Amino acid sequence: MKCINCHSIDIGKIGPRQYFCWNCCIEMSFAGDKLDVYQVEADGSVSSLNDLFFEEEPLQPQETEIEIYSDGR
Ligand SMILES: [Zn+2]
Repeated sequence: MKCINCHSIDIGKIGPRQYFCWNCCIEMSFAGDKLDVYQVEADGSVSSLNDLFFEEEPLQPQETEIEIYSDGR
């Protein structure tokens, strides 16, 4: 198992189907065959990152070349 975000293998199991990446501090939670990804904030709250990872917008190549930042800025 690797982190979906940083591909680190430094993953800790925090629940029956929950994992935590020590490298980038995201939580991955499996619900059925669905994976939920959360950012864990310093105060312990979590915010969903699902829209970052599971966006299903088709890629539309454009005439002008656009630099794509793959590291999530
Ligand atoms: Zn990670």
